[in-house]
Amino acid sequence: MPRNGARRQAVAQAAFKRNERIVLDILQAVGRPMKAYEILEQAYTEGVTAPMTIYRALAALIEAGHAAKIAGINAFVARVAGERKGPAAYFICRRCGEALERPLGDAMLNALFGEAADRLDTVIVEAYGACGRCAPAAKSRA
Ligand SMILES: [Zn+2]
Repeated sequence: MPRNGARRQAVAQAAFKRNERIVLDILQAVGRPMKAYEILEQAYTEGVTAPMTIYRALAALIEAGHAAKIAGINAFVARVAGERKGPAAYFICRRCGEALERPLGDAMLNALFGEAADRLDTVIVEAYGACGRCAPAAKSRA
């Protein structure tokens, strides 16, 4: 029985990883933040039909640093390769929906929060506006 249980768990793990792969592939292919239902629409052709499956895969991808949630628009985005570990700031274009990721290194967090930077457990830094392609002639704020 334990063998059977272990096998079932291994199968479940393999299935879970497959779903993570599907979700990450979709996020990377689209290249901008997506709502969970948009991901589900695209994952449907891969046989992923349950919203909970998408949310579980997203949670695992976020935990592993492969994806991030954009809280202000309740959407998810693939993280830039190589910048996956630490917290990041996002600039989201309201017109085309593209998100620009910038790493928030220790120096930046220390400058912002001083000694409290060591005790942060959640960092959400999001800026919204128009990207250079959508508003190339926008005046500077200065
Ligand atoms: Zn734009």
